[in-house]
Amino acid sequence: MGDKPTVQSLTMLAPYAADPLRTRGRRFSEPPPAYRNEYQRDRDRVVHSAGFRRLEYKTQVFVNHEGDLFRTRLTHSIEVAQIGRAIARTLRLNEDLTEAIALAHDLGHTPFGHAGQGALNECMREFGGFEHNLQSLRVVDVLEERYAEFEGLNLTFEAREGILKHCSLKSARELGELGERFLNPRQPGLEAQLANLADEIAYNNHDIDDGLRSGLITVDELRDVDLFAEHFREVRKSYPALSERRSIHEVVRRMINRQVVDLTETSRAQLLTAALTDSDAARTLTEPLISFSAPMWQQNLVLKQFLRKHLYQHYRVCRMTAKAEQVIRRLFDAFFGQPRLLPPEAAQKARKYEAAGGETGRARAIADYIAGMTDRYAIGEYQRLFDPSQLA
Ligand code: MG
Repeated sequence: MGDKPTVQSLTMLAPYAADPLRTRGRRFSEPPPAYRNEYQRDRDRVVHSAGFRRLEYKTQVFVNHEGDLFRTRLTHSIEVAQIGRAIARTLRLNEDLTEAIALAHDLGHTPFGHAGQGALNECMREFGGFEHNLQSLRVVDVLEERYAEFEGLNLTFEAREGILKHCSLKSARELGELGERFLNPRQPGLEAQLANLADEIAYNNHDIDDGLRSGLITVDELRDVDLFAEHFREVRKSYPALSERRSIHEVVRRMINRQVVDLTETSRAQLLTAALTDSDAARTLTEPLISFSAPMWQQNLVLKQFLRKHLYQHYRVCRMTAKAEQVIRRLFDAFFGQPRLLPPEAAQKARKYEAAGGETGRARAIADYIAGMTDRYAIGEYQRLFDPSQLA
Protein backbone atom coordinates (compact mmCIF):
# COMPACT_ATOMS: atom_id res chain seq x y z
CA MET A 1 0.00 0.00 0.00
CA GLY A 2 3.04 2.29 -0.28
CA ASP A 3 4.87 4.36 2.28
CA LYS A 4 3.00 7.61 1.77
CA PRO A 5 2.16 8.94 5.22
CA THR A 6 -1.52 9.14 5.98
CA VAL A 7 -3.26 11.42 8.44
CA GLN A 8 -3.55 8.45 10.79
CA SER A 9 0.12 7.58 10.69
CA LEU A 10 1.00 11.17 11.60
CA THR A 11 -1.02 11.02 14.81
CA MET A 12 1.67 9.08 16.67
CA LEU A 13 0.15 5.68 17.12
CA ALA A 14 2.03 3.56 19.62
CA PRO A 15 4.15 0.77 18.08
CA TYR A 16 1.63 -1.78 19.42
CA ALA A 17 -1.39 -0.01 17.89
CA ALA A 18 -3.07 -1.52 14.84
CA ASP A 19 -1.58 0.16 11.79
CA PRO A 20 -3.99 0.43 8.87
CA LEU A 21 -1.06 0.23 6.46
CA ARG A 22 -0.24 -3.19 7.87
CA THR A 23 -3.71 -4.73 8.07
CA ARG A 24 -3.98 -8.45 7.42
CA GLY A 25 -6.47 -7.31 4.86
CA ARG A 26 -9.95 -8.10 3.65
CA ARG A 27 -11.40 -11.38 2.47
CA PHE A 28 -11.85 -9.90 -1.01
CA SER A 29 -9.05 -7.57 -1.95
CA GLU A 30 -10.01 -4.03 -2.89
CA PRO A 31 -8.05 -0.96 -3.92
CA PRO A 32 -7.19 1.17 -0.89
CA PRO A 33 -9.52 4.08 -0.09
CA ALA A 34 -8.45 7.49 -1.37
CA TYR A 35 -8.58 9.79 1.63
CA ARG A 36 -9.40 7.45 4.47
CA ASN A 37 -7.46 4.64 6.02
CA GLU A 38 -8.64 1.03 6.02
CA TYR A 39 -10.17 1.18 9.50
CA GLN A 40 -12.02 4.41 8.77
CA ARG A 41 -13.47 2.59 5.80
CA ASP A 42 -14.52 -0.28 8.07
CA ARG A 43 -16.24 2.12 10.44
CA ASP A 44 -17.98 3.97 7.61
CA ARG A 45 -19.27 0.71 6.13
CA VAL A 46 -20.75 -0.26 9.48
CA VAL A 47 -22.47 3.12 9.87
CA HIS A 48 -24.05 2.80 6.41
CA SER A 49 -25.25 -0.78 6.94
CA ALA A 50 -28.89 -1.79 7.34
CA GLY A 51 -27.98 -3.83 10.43
CA PHE A 52 -26.68 -0.69 12.12
CA ARG A 53 -29.90 1.21 11.50
CA ARG A 54 -31.93 -1.66 12.92
CA LEU A 55 -30.09 -1.33 16.23
CA GLU A 56 -32.26 1.70 16.91
CA TYR A 57 -35.26 -0.55 17.44
CA LYS A 58 -33.60 -3.42 19.28
CA THR A 59 -33.72 -3.89 23.00
CA GLN A 60 -30.90 -3.65 25.42
CA VAL A 61 -32.79 -4.58 28.61
CA PHE A 62 -36.04 -2.73 28.08
CA VAL A 63 -38.23 -3.48 25.10
CA ASN A 64 -38.12 -0.69 22.60
CA HIS A 65 -41.63 0.60 23.13
CA GLU A 66 -41.32 0.84 26.94
CA GLY A 67 -40.07 4.40 26.87
CA ASP A 68 -38.17 6.91 24.78
CA LEU A 69 -35.40 7.50 27.30
CA PHE A 70 -34.08 3.96 27.66
CA ARG A 71 -31.01 2.77 25.86
CA THR A 72 -31.41 0.85 22.67
CA ARG A 73 -28.71 -1.21 21.02
CA LEU A 74 -27.93 1.79 18.84
CA THR A 75 -27.38 4.26 21.65
CA HIS A 76 -25.54 1.55 23.57
CA SER A 77 -23.19 0.98 20.62
CA ILE A 78 -22.55 4.73 20.33
CA GLU A 79 -21.71 4.88 24.05
CA VAL A 80 -19.32 1.93 23.65
CA ALA A 81 -17.65 3.74 20.75
CA GLN A 82 -17.34 6.94 22.78
CA ILE A 83 -15.70 5.20 25.74
CA GLY A 84 -13.50 3.09 23.48
CA ARG A 85 -12.31 6.04 21.41
CA ALA A 86 -11.45 8.16 24.42
CA ILE A 87 -9.30 5.40 25.91
CA ALA A 88 -7.78 4.46 22.54
CA ARG A 89 -6.60 8.01 22.03
CA THR A 90 -5.01 8.21 25.48
CA LEU A 91 -3.24 4.88 25.04
CA ARG A 92 -2.30 5.79 21.44
CA LEU A 93 -4.16 2.77 20.14
CA ASN A 94 -6.03 2.92 16.87
CA GLU A 95 -9.13 5.00 17.47
CA ASP A 96 -10.76 4.24 14.11
CA LEU A 97 -10.47 0.49 14.54
CA THR A 98 -11.76 0.67 18.12
CA GLU A 99 -14.73 2.67 16.89
CA ALA A 100 -15.44 0.28 14.02
CA ILE A 101 -15.49 -2.70 16.39
CA ALA A 102 -17.62 -0.87 18.95
CA LEU A 103 -20.24 0.20 16.41
CA ALA A 104 -20.43 -3.30 14.92
CA HIS A 105 -20.20 -5.42 18.06
CA ASP A 106 -23.95 -5.91 18.56
CA LEU A 107 -25.07 -6.17 14.92
CA GLY A 108 -25.96 -9.84 15.37
CA HIS A 109 -28.24 -9.36 18.33
CA THR A 110 -31.75 -10.72 18.02
CA PRO A 111 -34.82 -8.71 18.96
CA PHE A 112 -35.60 -8.65 22.71
CA GLY A 113 -31.99 -8.77 23.91
CA HIS A 114 -30.71 -11.83 25.71
CA ALA A 115 -34.17 -13.36 25.96
CA GLY A 116 -34.45 -13.41 22.18
CA GLN A 117 -30.99 -14.80 21.75
CA GLY A 118 -31.57 -17.61 24.25
CA ALA A 119 -34.84 -18.52 22.59
CA LEU A 120 -33.37 -18.54 19.11
CA ASN A 121 -30.45 -20.66 20.30
CA GLU A 122 -32.97 -23.11 21.72
CA CYS A 123 -34.89 -23.20 18.40
CA MET A 124 -31.61 -23.85 16.57
CA ARG A 125 -30.42 -26.55 18.97
CA GLU A 126 -30.52 -29.31 16.36
CA PHE A 127 -29.25 -27.07 13.59
CA GLY A 128 -25.93 -25.79 14.89
CA GLY A 129 -27.25 -23.36 17.51
CA PHE A 130 -27.32 -19.57 17.50
CA GLU A 131 -24.50 -17.44 18.92
CA HIS A 132 -24.95 -13.68 18.85
CA ASN A 133 -21.25 -12.83 18.49
CA LEU A 134 -20.96 -15.22 15.60
CA GLN A 135 -24.11 -13.69 14.13
CA SER A 136 -22.53 -10.21 14.31
CA LEU A 137 -19.68 -11.60 12.24
CA ARG A 138 -22.18 -13.25 9.89
CA VAL A 139 -23.91 -9.90 9.39
CA VAL A 140 -20.69 -8.17 8.31
CA ASP A 141 -19.34 -11.19 6.38
CA VAL A 142 -22.45 -12.47 4.63
CA LEU A 143 -25.82 -10.95 5.40
CA GLU A 144 -25.38 -7.31 4.45
CA GLU A 145 -26.09 -7.00 0.75
CA ARG A 146 -24.72 -3.67 -0.38
CA TYR A 147 -21.77 -4.21 -2.67
CA ALA A 148 -21.62 -5.47 -6.22
CA GLU A 149 -18.42 -7.42 -5.81
CA PHE A 150 -18.91 -9.33 -2.56
CA GLU A 151 -21.31 -10.42 0.12
CA GLY A 152 -21.23 -8.59 3.43
CA LEU A 153 -19.20 -5.49 4.21
CA ASN A 154 -15.80 -7.07 3.54
CA LEU A 155 -14.22 -5.62 6.69
CA THR A 156 -10.57 -6.00 7.65
CA PHE A 157 -9.33 -8.99 9.62
CA GLU A 158 -8.74 -6.76 12.65
CA ALA A 159 -12.32 -5.47 12.74
CA ARG A 160 -13.75 -8.98 12.25
CA GLU A 161 -11.47 -10.32 14.98
CA GLY A 162 -12.81 -7.68 17.36
CA ILE A 163 -16.43 -8.38 16.48
CA LEU A 164 -16.03 -12.09 17.23
CA LYS A 165 -15.65 -11.65 20.97
CA HIS A 166 -16.51 -15.25 21.83
CA CYS A 167 -17.44 -18.34 19.92
CA SER A 168 -17.92 -22.05 20.54
CA LEU A 169 -15.05 -24.40 19.77
CA LYS A 170 -17.16 -26.03 17.10
CA SER A 171 -17.63 -22.71 15.32
CA ALA A 172 -13.98 -21.76 15.88
CA ARG A 173 -12.90 -24.86 13.93
CA GLU A 174 -14.89 -23.67 10.93
CA LEU A 175 -13.55 -20.13 10.97
CA GLY A 176 -9.91 -20.64 9.92
CA GLU A 177 -7.54 -17.84 10.92
CA LEU A 178 -10.24 -15.99 12.83
CA GLY A 179 -11.09 -19.02 14.97
CA GLU A 180 -7.51 -19.90 15.90
CA ARG A 181 -7.37 -17.84 19.06
CA PHE A 182 -10.24 -19.78 20.59
CA LEU A 183 -8.72 -23.19 19.81
CA ASN A 184 -5.30 -22.25 21.12
CA PRO A 185 -6.40 -19.60 23.61
CA ARG A 186 -4.76 -16.29 22.81
CA GLN A 187 -5.76 -12.67 23.09
CA PRO A 188 -7.01 -10.63 20.15
CA GLY A 189 -5.45 -7.30 19.17
CA LEU A 190 -5.43 -4.50 21.73
CA GLU A 191 -8.25 -2.54 20.07
CA ALA A 192 -10.49 -5.62 20.33
CA GLN A 193 -9.60 -5.99 24.00
CA LEU A 194 -10.44 -2.35 24.53
CA ALA A 195 -13.79 -2.44 22.72
CA ASN A 196 -14.76 -5.45 24.83
CA LEU A 197 -14.21 -3.61 28.12
CA ALA A 198 -15.71 -0.38 26.81
CA ASP A 199 -18.84 -2.50 26.23
CA GLU A 200 -18.80 -3.61 29.89
CA ILE A 201 -18.34 -0.09 31.19
CA ALA A 202 -21.15 1.17 28.98
CA TYR A 203 -23.79 -1.42 29.81
CA ASN A 204 -23.14 -1.76 33.52
CA ASN A 205 -23.50 1.96 34.00
CA HIS A 206 -26.38 2.61 31.65
CA ASP A 207 -28.29 -0.33 33.06
CA ILE A 208 -28.01 1.28 36.50
CA ASP A 209 -29.27 4.54 35.01
CA ASP A 210 -32.13 2.90 33.06
CA GLY A 211 -32.94 0.60 35.98
CA LEU A 212 -33.35 3.56 38.32
CA ARG A 213 -35.34 5.55 35.77
CA SER A 214 -37.74 2.65 35.28
CA GLY A 215 -38.18 2.26 39.03
CA LEU A 216 -37.24 -1.44 38.84
CA ILE A 217 -34.27 -0.75 41.09
CA THR A 218 -33.90 1.89 43.79
CA VAL A 219 -31.09 3.99 45.19
CA ASP A 220 -31.68 2.28 48.51
CA GLU A 221 -31.03 -1.16 47.05
CA LEU A 222 -27.74 0.11 45.60
CA ARG A 223 -26.36 0.80 49.08
CA ASP A 224 -24.23 -2.35 48.95
CA VAL A 225 -22.71 -1.57 45.59
CA ASP A 226 -19.57 0.37 46.56
CA LEU A 227 -18.98 1.89 43.17
CA PHE A 228 -22.42 3.50 43.30
CA ALA A 229 -22.81 4.14 47.02
CA GLU A 230 -19.48 5.90 47.43
CA HIS A 231 -20.20 8.37 44.63
CA PHE A 232 -23.78 8.84 45.73
CA ARG A 233 -22.67 9.87 49.23
CA GLU A 234 -20.16 12.33 47.77
CA VAL A 235 -22.71 13.89 45.43
CA ARG A 236 -25.33 14.16 48.20
CA LYS A 237 -22.79 15.81 50.46
CA SER A 238 -21.60 18.34 47.87
CA TYR A 239 -25.07 19.08 46.44
CA PRO A 240 -27.66 18.38 49.16
CA ALA A 241 -30.42 20.25 47.30
CA LEU A 242 -29.91 18.50 43.95
CA SER A 243 -32.88 16.50 42.65
CA GLU A 244 -32.55 12.71 42.83
CA ARG A 245 -32.69 12.32 39.05
CA ARG A 246 -29.87 14.81 38.55
CA SER A 247 -27.86 13.29 41.40
CA ILE A 248 -28.11 9.92 39.68
CA HIS A 249 -26.74 11.35 36.45
CA GLU A 250 -23.89 12.92 38.39
CA VAL A 251 -23.18 9.58 40.08
CA VAL A 252 -23.31 7.54 36.88
CA ARG A 253 -20.98 9.94 35.11
CA ARG A 254 -18.52 9.64 38.02
CA MET A 255 -18.79 5.85 37.94
CA ILE A 256 -17.99 5.76 34.23
CA ASN A 257 -15.11 8.14 34.74
CA ARG A 258 -13.70 6.07 37.60
CA GLN A 259 -13.77 2.92 35.48
CA VAL A 260 -12.32 4.63 32.42
CA VAL A 261 -9.47 6.13 34.45
CA ASP A 262 -8.77 2.80 36.16
CA LEU A 263 -8.76 0.96 32.84
CA THR A 264 -6.53 3.57 31.22
CA GLU A 265 -3.97 3.64 34.02
CA THR A 266 -3.86 -0.12 34.55
CA SER A 267 -3.53 -0.79 30.84
CA ARG A 268 -0.91 1.90 30.36
CA ALA A 269 1.25 0.37 33.09
CA GLN A 270 0.82 -3.12 31.63
CA LEU A 271 1.65 -1.92 28.13
CA LEU A 272 4.76 -0.23 29.43
CA THR A 273 5.95 -3.41 31.14
CA ALA A 274 5.12 -5.62 28.16
CA ALA A 275 6.99 -3.28 25.78
CA LEU A 276 5.38 -4.75 22.67
CA THR A 277 7.11 -3.84 19.45
CA ASP A 278 4.11 -4.35 17.16
CA SER A 279 0.39 -5.03 17.23
CA ASP A 280 0.75 -8.76 16.57
CA ALA A 281 2.75 -9.24 19.77
CA ALA A 282 -0.48 -8.79 21.79
CA ARG A 283 -1.92 -11.78 19.90
CA THR A 284 0.78 -14.11 21.22
CA LEU A 285 -0.27 -13.51 24.84
CA THR A 286 -2.74 -15.55 26.87
CA GLU A 287 -3.75 -12.67 29.17
CA PRO A 288 -5.15 -9.32 28.08
CA LEU A 289 -3.07 -6.18 28.51
CA ILE A 290 -6.10 -3.92 28.39
CA SER A 291 -7.67 -4.48 31.76
CA PHE A 292 -9.06 -3.04 34.99
CA SER A 293 -7.02 -3.18 38.20
CA ALA A 294 -7.80 -6.09 40.55
CA PRO A 295 -9.86 -3.93 42.96
CA MET A 296 -11.88 -2.53 40.03
CA TRP A 297 -12.59 -6.03 38.71
CA GLN A 298 -13.98 -6.82 42.14
CA GLN A 299 -16.15 -3.69 42.24
CA ASN A 300 -17.29 -4.38 38.71
CA LEU A 301 -18.26 -7.91 39.70
CA VAL A 302 -20.37 -6.64 42.60
CA LEU A 303 -22.09 -4.24 40.20
CA LYS A 304 -22.82 -7.00 37.70
CA GLN A 305 -24.15 -9.34 40.38
CA PHE A 306 -26.41 -6.57 41.63
CA LEU A 307 -27.79 -5.95 38.16
CA ARG A 308 -28.41 -9.64 37.58
CA LYS A 309 -30.30 -10.09 40.81
CA HIS A 310 -32.22 -6.84 40.96
CA LEU A 311 -32.73 -5.86 37.34
CA TYR A 312 -32.30 -8.72 34.87
CA GLN A 313 -34.20 -11.09 37.16
CA HIS A 314 -36.82 -8.56 38.25
CA TYR A 315 -40.26 -10.10 37.83
CA ARG A 316 -41.32 -7.44 35.35
CA VAL A 317 -38.26 -8.09 33.21
CA CYS A 318 -38.93 -11.83 33.52
CA ARG A 319 -42.48 -11.36 32.25
CA MET A 320 -41.20 -9.48 29.23
CA THR A 321 -38.56 -12.16 28.75
CA ALA A 322 -41.18 -14.89 28.78
CA LYS A 323 -43.23 -13.07 26.17
CA ALA A 324 -40.17 -12.47 24.02
CA GLU A 325 -39.26 -16.15 24.14
CA GLN A 326 -42.74 -17.06 23.06
CA VAL A 327 -42.70 -14.63 20.15
CA ILE A 328 -39.37 -15.99 18.88
CA ARG A 329 -40.33 -19.63 19.40
CA ARG A 330 -43.68 -19.33 17.67
CA LEU A 331 -42.27 -17.36 14.75
CA PHE A 332 -39.51 -19.91 14.26
CA ASP A 333 -41.84 -22.91 14.43
CA ALA A 334 -44.33 -21.33 12.06
CA PHE A 335 -41.71 -20.43 9.45
CA PHE A 336 -39.88 -23.72 9.79
CA GLY A 337 -43.06 -25.76 9.49
CA GLN A 338 -44.47 -23.66 6.67
CA PRO A 339 -41.74 -21.76 4.79
CA ARG A 340 -44.50 -20.39 2.55
CA LEU A 341 -45.35 -17.98 5.37
CA LEU A 342 -42.01 -16.24 4.85
CA PRO A 343 -41.98 -12.98 2.87
CA PRO A 344 -40.48 -13.41 -0.64
CA GLU A 345 -36.89 -12.43 0.07
CA ALA A 346 -36.57 -14.61 3.18
CA ALA A 347 -38.39 -17.45 1.41
CA GLN A 348 -35.92 -17.30 -1.45
CA LYS A 349 -33.00 -17.49 1.01
CA ALA A 350 -34.64 -20.42 2.78
CA ARG A 351 -35.00 -22.30 -0.52
CA LYS A 352 -31.42 -21.54 -1.48
CA TYR A 353 -29.98 -22.65 1.88
CA GLU A 354 -32.24 -25.70 1.95
CA ALA A 355 -31.03 -26.76 -1.48
CA ALA A 356 -27.46 -26.66 -0.19
CA GLY A 357 -27.92 -27.85 3.40
CA GLY A 358 -31.33 -29.49 3.81
CA GLU A 359 -33.36 -28.72 6.93
CA THR A 360 -30.31 -27.27 8.66
CA GLY A 361 -30.00 -24.77 5.82
CA ARG A 362 -33.66 -23.86 6.02
CA ALA A 363 -33.37 -23.37 9.79
CA ARG A 364 -30.33 -21.10 9.33
CA ALA A 365 -32.15 -18.90 6.83
CA ILE A 366 -35.06 -18.56 9.26
CA ALA A 367 -32.71 -17.78 12.16
CA ASP A 368 -31.07 -15.07 10.02
CA TYR A 369 -34.49 -13.61 9.22
CA ILE A 370 -35.61 -13.61 12.86
CA ALA A 371 -32.27 -12.35 14.20
CA GLY A 372 -32.46 -9.41 11.82
CA MET A 373 -35.87 -8.32 13.12
CA THR A 374 -36.26 -5.29 15.34
CA ASP A 375 -38.41 -5.67 18.46
CA ARG A 376 -41.37 -3.96 16.87
CA TYR A 377 -41.05 -5.87 13.60
CA ALA A 378 -41.02 -9.18 15.50
CA ILE A 379 -44.12 -8.14 17.45
CA GLY A 380 -45.76 -7.08 14.17
CA GLU A 381 -44.93 -10.39 12.47
CA TYR A 382 -46.31 -12.22 15.48
CA GLN A 383 -49.58 -10.30 15.27
CA ARG A 384 -49.85 -10.72 11.52
CA LEU A 385 -49.31 -14.48 11.83
CA PHE A 386 -51.29 -15.34 14.94
CA ASP A 387 -53.88 -12.65 15.53
CA PRO A 388 -56.91 -13.45 13.30
CA SER A 389 -58.13 -9.86 13.47
CA GLN A 390 -54.89 -8.58 11.90
CA LEU A 391 -54.38 -8.23 8.19
CA ALA A 392 -51.71 -10.59 6.94
MG1 MG B 1 -22.78 -4.58 23.80
